[in-house]
Amino acid sequence: MMDADREQMRSQVAALCARFPGVYWREKDRAREYPSEFVAALTEGGWLACLVPEEYGGSGLGLIEAAAILEEIHATGCNGAAAHAQIYTMGTVLRHGSDAQKSRYLPDIAAGRLRLQAFGVTEPESGSDTLSLATRAVREGDEFVINGSKVWTSRAEHSDLMLLLARTTPKDEVAHRTEGLSVFLVDMREAKGAGLDIRPIRTMINHATCELFFDDLRVPAANLIGEEGKGFSYILDGMNAERILIAAECIGDGRWFTDRAVAYACERRVFDRPIGQNQGVQFPIARAYANVRAAALMVEAAAQTFDAGENCGEEANMAKLLASEAAWEAGDTCMQTFGGYGFAEEMDVERKFRETRLYRTAPISTNMILAYIAEHVLGLPRSY
Ligand SMILES: Cc1cc2nc3c(=O)[nH]c(=O)nc-3n(C[C@H](O)[C@H](O)[C@H](O)COP(=O)(O)OP(=O)(O)OC[C@H]3O[C@@H](n4cnc5c(N)ncnc54)[C@H](O)[C@@H]3O)c2cc1C
Repeated sequence: MMDADREQMRSQVAALCARFPGVYWREKDRAREYPSEFVAALTEGGWLACLVPEEYGGSGLGLIEAAAILEEIHATGCNGAAAHAQIYTMGTVLRHGSDAQKSRYLPDIAAGRLRLQAFGVTEPESGSDTLSLATRAVREGDEFVINGSKVWTSRAEHSDLMLLLARTTPKDEVAHRTEGLSVFLVDMREAKGAGLDIRPIRTMINHATCELFFDDLRVPAANLIGEEGKGFSYILDGMNAERILIAAECIGDGRWFTDRAVAYACERRVFDRPIGQNQGVQFPIARAYANVRAAALMVEAAAQTFDAGENCGEEANMAKLLASEAAWEAGDTCMQTFGGYGFAEEMDVERKFRETRLYRTAPISTNMILAYIAEHVLGLPRSY
């Protein structure tokens, strides 16, 4: 896509988001309600099908455009987390699914008739140590029987399908611990009440995240993605896409925080002058702005590397690290600039401040990224 087209796309997204002002998000936040109207508008606009190839009914855009869409959503004060996974979760099916799976699911995902926006990886016991996950899938005839649990499976109540990572061969029976994990496409509509129990978790943000319990859940073997035992490698490229897109959301948050801070610092008068005339107020905003701009360059580099089909692990992780920290710094600066009013719900700052904090922890926490860079990029000794 040409730069001018990308700019036009950003304006269209911003125009859609203008229909969902702060008051909409405040009410949803207070009631911990899913922003269905916003997600429906994004679906109708075709924005959630941006990465689905045209042959399946999507718009066949690159990650760089998907990143621009999510950045713009956040820069306008909206929150893409309710639907962002619909954009990238299908990538695992697209890249590793069979032709039958792709033609069965992708057109409906592209049209928004099917929601594939739940990704079940994290478990209560294993946490960041994904390779130690304990949910088991055991083959019985032409089905797999699944037992175990997941935690923090976001949007599980608002998704028709879930991508599930489970162990098909016990860890002590494989040569390397990355082997023996498999990815399944679970039809949540059939599974609910038939071996799958979903329990919402109330959190400090409105995020529709849940605990899942599997008790002899039967999944057709036809829903195994790719080869049995190779699931970990399949989800890795999907995780890189997720990290880059969430980093783009952080850039949007960073822009929103700095815009708000600048506007308030110019308008609020104390000691007979705008507070923004004081360098003690200006400098943190200027620094936050510079850090957001710098992180945005890394997000762009990561998206370009992904779109070029090259290994983007280093860039994707650095983009997520730098963008989540830049957004957090901008959020803290915005809170400080607003003084006491930063705490008032009606300013939206405290809500955005809570929301952006998530990305230092999920989908991967800062320490795990630093460990990746230290060990896989710089060649330092493994710590775990
Ligand atoms: C709102 C929300 C939504 C989420 N959505 C999803 C989802 O949709 N799907 C999904 O699968 N998961 C999801 N997650 C889970 C998220 O990816 C994990 O919370 C995150 O990866 C951290 O895992 P943990 O919570 O188990 O922390 P732990 O692994 O228990 O780690 C706790 C802390 O210790 C640090 N730590 C642990 N080990 C080390 C070490 N060896 N060296 C240094 N530091 C270490 C971590 O960095 C972290 O700061 C979500 C989480 C939240 C809060």
